[in-house]
Formats: sequence, structure tokens, C-alpha cells
Amino acid sequence: MPKRGAERYPWPDGKQCAVVFSFDFDAESGFVFREPEKARRSLADMEERRFGPRVGVDRILRMLDRLRLRASFFIPGWTVEHHLPESRRIRDAGHEIGAHGNVHEAVGSLTAEQEEKILSDQLRILEDHLRVRPAGYRSPSWEVNVWTPGILKAHGFLYDSSLMGNDIPYELPTEHGPIVEVPVQWLLDDAPLFRHVFGATNAIADPRRVLGMWSQEFAGMHRENGCFVLTCHPFISGRASRIRLLEELVGYMRKFRGVWFTTCEQVAKWHTGQSGSIDGVKQKRRRP
Ligand SMILES: [Zn+2]
Repeated sequence: MPKRGAERYPWPDGKQCAVVFSFDFDAESGFVFREPEKARRSLADMEERRFGPRVGVDRILRMLDRLRLRASFFIPGWTVEHHLPESRRIRDAGHEIGAHGNVHEAVGSLTAEQEEKILSDQLRILEDHLRVRPAGYRSPSWEVNVWTPGILKAHGFLYDSSLMGNDIPYELPTEHGPIVEVPVQWLLDDAPLFRHVFGATNAIADPRRVLGMWSQEFAGMHRENGCFVLTCHPFISGRASRIRLLEELVGYMRKFRGVWFTTCEQVAKWHTGQSGSIDGVKQKRRRP
């Protein structure tokens, strides 16, 4: 049996690894925050991002439906307010909804007081418009300050999913007690691979190359008992060839034994011992 340190990470039901498909439904929010002037006049930049709510989200929802998968969607408050029908369809399809900033703020430039206010605002928007109290938070652009986990914990979040310090769930200490981290990594993000940025040298990747990269990472994580968290954006991965890529990836993963397809929330619950079940079957919790 593969080992990590002293002992392999114990997934429920004797599973070998966990897989989470996560989607950051940013729409125009990041651009509106970063370049508010340009956002008022550049139809081209805004339309590129509106492909997400207009086409990408429903295409992804149909794909998840075909594959019978539940996913984790992280949605900024601004996006919920401006794309409410799409946000509701995500919720109504039974997917997890997590917080993702208010206007996709660059958290690295914020003070603790500003972060606190922004977090309260986004929670209120999720509650008012979607009746959702998120268990999880993903920082916009994965920027996290040293004080961020404590603010999340104080607001009752079960987990964060923005850091790269492991490839199994782990805990971050805060002054209010530990918070679970469901880790991410750049290798498993669609943006650096597919997003067209003038002057960048790596975009736009061939979907077959990305399928190869993600399949290899999955096979490695399966052997290492890891937690494979893929992060995609509807305006990037909602493109036709990339939906095909995701379906092929799931087909590849399903050839492996013991893969737990789940959500970030379920991973965090499993890690804290709040949920010891898959498909309603109670499992005995073993500590890592
Ligand atoms: Zn984002």
C-alpha cells in the first residue's frame, strides 16, 4: 500500500484518492475590480468574460449532469448580483457554492479590516440572493494574507481552498482554532494553460496536451492517495473543445479503482470528521 510519511491518507470507504471538479464563476468581476475604467468602455474585454454566464455555465452544468458529478462552484458576490439566473441554476442543480470575494478583489493589497468588510458583504449577498451559507471560501486569484484564515474561521467557514502547501487536506492554525485547507495548485488550473494573454508564451495550450498533463497528475495523485482539485473557469473552460477535454479526463479517471468524486465541502467534512460517509454509508473515521 502506498505510504505518505508514516501512513497513507485515509479516504472514506477505503478509497484511494479524492477528485474535485471546481469552477470559479468569475464572469466580469475580476476585470471590473482590476480595471474599472476600461471595464466601462471595453466591450471586447467584457464580452470575453460574459461568455462564462452566457454559454460556459450551462455547458458545464450539462456536462456535469451527463457525467452525474457534483462540483464545487466559487462565485464572487458581484457575479451573483449580475448573473443571478445562472447562479441559481448552479445552486438548483445541487452543486456546492462557495464564496470567492465580492468583486474578485486582489486580497494581497487589502488590510485585515478591508478583508473583513468584503467577506461580510459577500456572505450577505449569497444569503440574500441564493439563500446559501457557504462552508468554503476560495480567494480570488488564490491571494491569501497571513491573517485571512483567522477571518474566515471567525466567520464560521469550515474550509479554505486557495493554498498549495500539500496535496491532501490539511489544517491552518488560526487564533480561533484550525481551519481546513483543501489545496489547489497551478498545474490544475485552466487559466495559465488556456487563457489568451498578449505577450504570454504558454497560451493557448492544445487540449490534448492538457489532457496528458492532467491525466498524469491524476495518475500520480491516485498512487499517492492525494486530493486532486481541478480549478476551471466557465469563460475559459466553457469553450467546446475544453468541455470535451474534461469529459475525456473523467472517462480516464473512471478506469481507476477507488476514486472518490466529491466536492471541496465533503473533503473538508471528511477531514474534520464531521462526515464519515459516502452515499449515506457510515464509515469509521481513522486519523491520518
Ligand atoms: Zn476567480
